[in-house]
Amino acid sequence: MESYATALLYATPFFIGLVLIEILYGRFVKDQKHNLMDTVSSLSSGLTNVVKDSLGLVLILVSYPFLLEHLALIEIKATWLVWVVAFIALDFAGYWNHRLSHHINLFWNQHVIHHSSEEFNLACALRQPISNLFGYYALLLIPAALLGVPNQVIAILAPIHLFAQFWYHTQHIGKMGILEYVIVTPSQHRVHHAINPEYIDKNLGQIFCVWDRMFGTFQEELDDVPPQYGVLKPANTWNPIIINFQHLWRLIQDAWRTRSYWDKLRIWFMPTGWRPQDVKEKYPVEVIHDVYNFRKYSPEASYWLKGYALFQLIITTGLMLFMFYSYSEIGFDGLLLFGAFIFVGIYGYTTLMDRKSYAVWIEVARGIAGLALIYFSNDWFGIDAYLSIGSYLVALYFLITIFGGVYFTYVEKSFAAADLAP
Ligand SMILES: [Zn+2]
Ligand SMILES: [Zn+2]
Repeated sequence: MESYATALLYATPFFIGLVLIEILYGRFVKDQKHNLMDTVSSLSSGLTNVVKDSLGLVLILVSYPFLLEHLALIEIKATWLVWVVAFIALDFAGYWNHRLSHHINLFWNQHVIHHSSEEFNLACALRQPISNLFGYYALLLIPAALLGVPNQVIAILAPIHLFAQFWYHTQHIGKMGILEYVIVTPSQHRVHHAINPEYIDKNLGQIFCVWDRMFGTFQEELDDVPPQYGVLKPANTWNPIIINFQHLWRLIQDAWRTRSYWDKLRIWFMPTGWRPQDVKEKYPVEVIHDVYNFRKYSPEASYWLKGYALFQLIITTGLMLFMFYSYSEIGFDGLLLFGAFIFVGIYGYTTLMDRKSYAVWIEVARGIAGLALIYFSNDWFGIDAYLSIGSYLVALYFLITIFGGVYFTYVEKSFAAADLAP
């Protein structure tokens, strides 16, 4: 896990840098594809994902080394050919995993976060799950295990294969000629993120688009069908932690409420969106029918709130980078506590962005908890060793958090109410 934390220490600024370049480019060509609150939400989602993954918080049901040990037909050395074969095997597994995620209710829960943005840009690529609590992915790598592809090759290629899916989340690149027949391109992936009836659940490939062409899920981007982004049941929140469990929560409620025992059992494995007839009638859920005319989620936000959301994101990112930097010194218990602070922080400020009044309780509570930790441990996870006033700065951040929570819940909100008054 430590090597993954080190990789993220470098990968995070790299990805954020590219997102900034896309924002600047959009400004330059006067075609901005970013909306500040949505981008803050997307990047925050990325933070939750990497914090969770770096802590290894997943129950591995089947591991690749286990399969390799029991299934390998031949033993091969890691020659260049093995790397190529392994990459193709990973991509094949990725296609089917992605297809399962789109088509089965239970699996959709851990993928919906990636589709939850109603924008399409590099930041939305970073909306990655934290609800993947069980590791079964290795099962899809049985072909590689049979061929005896060494675990090390898979371990190195898997993050590369994931990171290589970042670049095509953009609206600034058009069709790419002959490449459209080989790899997944921005144009194809725009189709994938679209909810237009022509496009939905198409282009499930990750790096190569040949699987889509082979298995009948390919759809070209059409000139007269501009992609509309999002999910059919809108998330209606900036909080990535809530989005990660929203669909699961609906499934639990439906399974609980339906009177049919058969439906209680099968709902989990039915096609995505399927609901038992009785609960569907009794508890209707908002679904987008007209994809060209729906209101994107945008609770009112002043410049101050937008600036404040950005400030929270920047500090949270900085704290997370410090956590990865001192990963081994902090120790696992400390990392869990640190990770909890980051999670509660993201939960708190995105709830504030949603303009929910209970956000103030989260913000005040985490502010006090942070200050108490600094007071009693006389440090912030060893930050003073790098920067003598480090823990004072973190304490200042927690004070601002308490102030911000109160300000945006009581003071600014009453301004807004006063503005609306006749
Ligand atoms: Zn997808
Ligand atoms: Zn995507």
